[in-house]
Order: sequence, then structure tokens, then C-alpha cells
Amino acid sequence: MQSYLSNDWNIDDASETYGIRAWGRNYFDISENGDVVVSCTTAEGEKVRVALPDIIAGMKARGFEMPALLRIENILDHRVRMINEAFTKAIEQASYQSIYRGVFPIKVNQQRHVVEEIVKFGRRYHHGLEAGSKAELMIALASSPDEERYIVCNGYKDEEFINLGLRAVQLGWRCFFVLETLSELELIIRCSQQLSVQPILGVRVKLSSTVDGHWKTSSGDRSIFGLTSIQLVEVVERLKLAGMLDCLKMLHFHLGSQIPNIQNIRQGVQEACRYYISLIKEGAAMGHLDLGGGLAIDYEGVSQCDTHSKNYTLSEYCIDIVEAVMETLDPQGVAHPVLMTESGRFTVAHSSLFLFNVLEVSNFDPVKNVRLLPDNMQSGHYDEKLRNLLDVLECITPKNVQECYNDAHFYRSEIRRKFNQGQADLRTRAVAENVFLEIIQRIQEVAASTQQIPKELTNLREDFADIYYGNFSVFQSLPDTWAIKQVFPVMPVHRLQEQPTREAMIADLTCDCDGKLDNFIGKRHTIPLHALEEGKDYFLGVFLVGAYQETLSDLHNLFGDSNVVSVRVTGDGEFEFVREIHGDSIADVLSYVEYDPRILQERFRDTVEQAVRSGKINVETRREILGAFDESLRGYTYFEH
Ligand SMILES: *Cc1c(COP(=O)(O)O)cnc(C)c1O
Repeated sequence: MQSYLSNDWNIDDASETYGIRAWGRNYFDISENGDVVVSCTTAEGEKVRVALPDIIAGMKARGFEMPALLRIENILDHRVRMINEAFTKAIEQASYQSIYRGVFPIKVNQQRHVVEEIVKFGRRYHHGLEAGSKAELMIALASSPDEERYIVCNGYKDEEFINLGLRAVQLGWRCFFVLETLSELELIIRCSQQLSVQPILGVRVKLSSTVDGHWKTSSGDRSIFGLTSIQLVEVVERLKLAGMLDCLKMLHFHLGSQIPNIQNIRQGVQEACRYYISLIKEGAAMGHLDLGGGLAIDYEGVSQCDTHSKNYTLSEYCIDIVEAVMETLDPQGVAHPVLMTESGRFTVAHSSLFLFNVLEVSNFDPVKNVRLLPDNMQSGHYDEKLRNLLDVLECITPKNVQECYNDAHFYRSEIRRKFNQGQADLRTRAVAENVFLEIIQRIQEVAASTQQIPKELTNLREDFADIYYGNFSVFQSLPDTWAIKQVFPVMPVHRLQEQPTREAMIADLTCDCDGKLDNFIGKRHTIPLHALEEGKDYFLGVFLVGAYQETLSDLHNLFGDSNVVSVRVTGDGEFEFVREIHGDSIADVLSYVEYDPRILQERFRDTVEQAVRSGKINVETRREILGAFDESLRGYTYFEH
């Protein structure tokens, strides 16, 4: 469907259309020749730009097919630096009398390369790790030691988890147990007495402050995590009894992820500070205030208090927190605690993007040049309803578009009814359907030229949008778009000097109605795309996907992990492929669902052998068939060229 009619298009229009300069935050932009470029600062402090199509070509040359997840290490480094430096600056400006120590929550992206890079780059800031399970704690403990860095253990903890954490304390790590329940405390007291190790304890409080955004309903009193004020008193009593109140060193809260409203954050901090002061008064050692995650990403690039955006900058976030803490604690004469956050989404979202190619397009354009009616049929013999439909096509004017639309619908359903009752033949129905599409097309052209689109017709663009079939699985690579209606920026990564002429939604390879992308930034359900060119690839990118997407994925239709490539941009504007991981093969995904690829091979070989014996195929064909089967087992689960 033709939708953008002006022909003086340039890359600024492309930037406007896809919002890239708004959500791209200087990491992504469009080059003069219409490619999406990644801009970053190298280790030597130089600003360089690399075009995504060049990286795609490099991947291809190394045998990495689409779809693929691309990580840009420089961006990850930059995010870690940003959050540490923003807090340091806010602290200096306000003369706050303590420091900031961030921890990265491993659950947000557990991939070894990501965690390792955060630890490696974050070392200069003693950026630590947050673990929500035994497995995550083990990841943290296997990272290179740094006695200044914090490890924060959240989540339900069994004896094994606790002993592991206590051993870490014995080794000199600053490993906090954050109490989520009372029963956990008993276990910790017992284990630490057995090992004679003083635990480092924190308490997670359930705040009554609520947050806007997706996690609204799970914040406040209904939060499933954290201790109430009643339980907090019980914790204090129990620790006093065990002579361990001096082990309680941290107050922790987590209001939810992607908090769009800075007001909520300020309120949360104020409430938490009251608890902090109270615990000091109860005699706990304290010294640390951990504000959890929640620092949001502006996926839409609109800087608003909206689920997929936020109404504050990083520096406002830091300043507001520092100020709120000082305003609450100073009048009480309470010393400033070490400020901690567990920002996951903020740290990793920008550093990964997901790339896929478009396999084909289906559209709702009327066909031309195809003879739908027999040559010898005179218009006088047309079905009466079809003639009515043809009349509608002839009389569309700006004034009667709504009427024509209604009539077209009516006559088309009449013909469908007659077809269903055996009174109209296939040719008649096909012509009627095609004329109907012609009418829709004409209505849109006429309506676009007058700018007066009747209300009922505003959905036409969506209802008749093209379907672009992408070589990927939503469930595997972008699970949040399906699970929580997360909106990610999506756009072509090349051809942006050209005006997109189609309006589309994007379907994936799974045969599932939910396997699609139809929520785009700007609250739109379709996205402008370019028409495919014969024999040429068309690549789309989904951006800001570094947080939460990689391990929430599932094997719907047995599409497995995609290829993953990490690049590091270097000073000369070149890039190095620092890590490469091939995605799952078909044999891999089959084994995840308990099939043994060797047994499958044997069974199939039996079937083929039977066919040879019964004379259906010869041994030569047998060899070819078995070869193809073996090759498929080793192949990528996605569409291969
Ligand atoms: C998930 C989680 C985080 C990370 O939140 P973001 O919004 O991604 O920064 C931090 N802390 C806890 C306890 C969490 O459960």
C-alpha cells in the first residue's frame, strides 16, 4: 500500500520516521548513504562509526547466517561507565559523605560474555554482581576476585546457597544476604554459627510506595517480595537474641523494573530512608542502602512517563536519589550510607541488537494483468452483485469515501454468500475480491489526498498492511514482545536514503498467531518498510534488546538459539569479532526435548532401507536422502540460504 507520497525524502525523514536519534542515544544513527551506523567511543577515547551492513557482511563471511544477535562491547562499557560516573558526580555536587557501588543483576543477562565484560570493565568502579539463585551466585564467585566489590544475594536461599555465600565471606568477599523471608533468617543464623562466619546481612523491605508502568500492580502492599514493618521488628528481635544485630548492614528495596516516573523513585527512596533510620535507632549497624533496579530505558524515545519511556535522565535519577537520601537522613543526624543500585536493564539493553532478514512479503494489493474471468464472458453476463461492485469502483470521490467503503463491504459479502451457497463460481468470487481490494486502494489514495479520513477508515492502513515474513522466532529472540507487550525500536538497517513505500506488520517463522511484531514505537501497529528487491537481502534490526530477552526465550516450533556475535569497534573505525557463538543446530534443539539424534538417524535409516528393499528407490537415492537428513541435523534451525 502506497502511504508516503512525497518524493523529496532524505535521511532526516528516515530518522524522524523510525525515531532512531531519539531512542538511539547517540549510539545509533543513519549514515549519508542510508545505513544504520553504530557510534561509539573506543578504549583510546576516539569517536568512531561503523555501518551495520558492513558488520553483517563480516558475519556472513565468517559463516554466521541470519538471524543473529549482535553485541557491541563498547556500548556495554559505556553504560557501566555512565552509571558510575553519574552517581559519582551527583555525590560530589551534593557533598554526599559516602560512595556509590553498583551491582549488575545477573538475571538480566546471564551470558558469560556479558557478565565477564561488565566485571572486567567495571573493575575500575568495583562494580559488583547481584545473584538471585545458587547458580547465579556461582557465576559471581567464579569471577575474578576484588575485595572492594559487592555481591548481593537476593531470592530464596536454601542451606547450600547460604553456605556458599558464607564461604565467600570467609574468602574476604563482600557478600550480602538480603533477607526476603523470616524463615531464611533461622537458616542463616544456624549456618553461620556452624561455620563460625559472621554473615553480612541486608533486609528487603516491602514499601507501600507504588510505581507506574508495567509493574504497577505488583508494587506496593501487594508486592510478593520483602518484609513488612511487623516482620522487620521480628528480624531485629531475632538478631538481638542471637547477638548478631551488628551483622545487619543493609536496607534493600526493589520497586519493579522500568519505572517511568521519577516521582515514584523519589517517594520510594524517602520511604526506604525512614526504615533505614529506624533500623539504626534499633541498633543495627547498617551503612548500605540498596535501591534495587528500576532505572528505565526510553524505548520510544519520547521522554515521557509512559510504560516504554521515562520522564527523567540518568543524571536526574542520581541527583534525585542523593538529594532524597540527604533530605531524609540529615535532619536525623544519620550518617550517609553507601548507595547501591542493581540496574540491569539500563546497563545492558543498548548493547545488543537483533538482526534478521525478510524472507517474503504478502500484501493485499489487487492483482493486475491477471485474467480472472474467461475471455468470452461479456460484462452483461457478470453477476449482478459484481456489477454493483464495479460501479462502486467507478464512483469514488473525496465526498463519498465512507459510503463507497460501506457499499463495497456489502456487495463483497453478498458475493461471498452466493459463493457459499453455490450460486457464484470461483472466477466470480476472485474478481469480486480483487475489485474490493481495488476499491480499498482507491479509497486510501483519495482519502490521503484530501487529509479528511472518515473515522471508520482510519484503521484501513492496519487492516490492509503488508505482512513481512522475518527469519526469526519472537518466542526465541524477543519473548517480551509477546509476554508483556514490550515495545522495541524496529527498523531497516539499510536503504534509508530511499523512502519506504509499504506499511507492514512483521510475522515470524513460527506457525503461531502470536508470532509477530505489531507494536511499534509511537503506539503504531504497522511500520513503514521498503518493497523487497528481487534477489537482494532486506535486513531489519530490533534494537535495545540486551536486557531480559536472551534467557526468557522458549523453543516454540523448535527454533533454537540464534547465532551471537560480539564486536568491538577499534580506533581506525574497524571492528573486531571478539566472540562468536553458533546458534543451536537442529540436533541440539531435538536433544533439549529428549530426542536422541542418533536414534532418529537410525530409525530414518530403517525406513529408507525398507524403501530400497521394496524397490521404491535405488541405493543411490538412498545415499542422497540419508545425506540430506544428516546435514539437516547439523544445520541451523532457521531458514538458510
Ligand atoms: C530484576 C531485578 C533487578 C533489575 O531491575 P532493572 O529494572 O532491570 O534494573 C534488580 N534487583 C532485583 C531484586 C531484581 O529482581
